[in-house]
Amino acid sequence: MSETAKRIADNLTEIRERIAAAAKRGGRTADDVKLVAVTKYVDVEQAAALVDAGCHDLGESRPQELWHKADSLPSDAVRWHLIGHLQRNKVRRTLSHVTLVHSGDSQRLLAAIDEAAAALDRRMPVLLEVNISGDAEKHGFAADELERLLPGLAKRANIEIAGLMTMAAREGGDQRARRDFAQLRELRERLLRGCPPEISLHELSMGMSRDFETAVEEGATIVRVGSALFAGVEQGS
Ligand SMILES: *Cc1c(COP(=O)(O)O)cnc(C)c1O
Repeated sequence: MSETAKRIADNLTEIRERIAAAAKRGGRTADDVKLVAVTKYVDVEQAAALVDAGCHDLGESRPQELWHKADSLPSDAVRWHLIGHLQRNKVRRTLSHVTLVHSGDSQRLLAAIDEAAAALDRRMPVLLEVNISGDAEKHGFAADELERLLPGLAKRANIEIAGLMTMAAREGGDQRARRDFAQLRELRERLLRGCPPEISLHELSMGMSRDFETAVEEGATIVRVGSALFAGVEQGS
């Protein structure tokens, strides 16, 4: 095994241990939290090292980069997650690769995903991205518009609204991140009360390298970790 592959495998072990410890602090177990390894900073070879180390959920934020890596790695070994903004003209090709779209950020995009999924004869799991911090630069729905959108989304037969996704505010440190994550969890609880049965809202995708432990303590079911997995590794791309 190369030095790089060993370092990546060690980092993966460490992150999994930290997730397990955070889950325990929150009264859950490591099995309740899925790690999506974000490979956007690295080349195909380094992404492959993660897969060899036993991580089979990989995420990319740019559709083209996801297509490229998905074409280069064995498709039976990887479940791909799109975590960044998806343009409507890239929906069809992206859906043919991914298991979950985390970044359902507009009605128009969700309509396009529904249509493309129908053409592929699939029911596509999608998360609703919520701009919980209200940051003007961020994509996503406002927290207070979701409730009235759910009945319409439930009627879209080829998308499955599986949960919510967010990013914590950039500023404000761990305390602010904790508040943002708690707000997403509370939003889900609120929405679940009046939610059509077609919509599960089980997943909470929240937490990145700097705040994944906080996110897990606050109820994340999926964390998206990139740079921490490649600490100490020279970057290939
Ligand atoms: C890049 C990215 C991540 C991972 O970020 P790190 O800080 O490198 O862990 C997570 N989520 C989204 C939406 C991203 O774009």
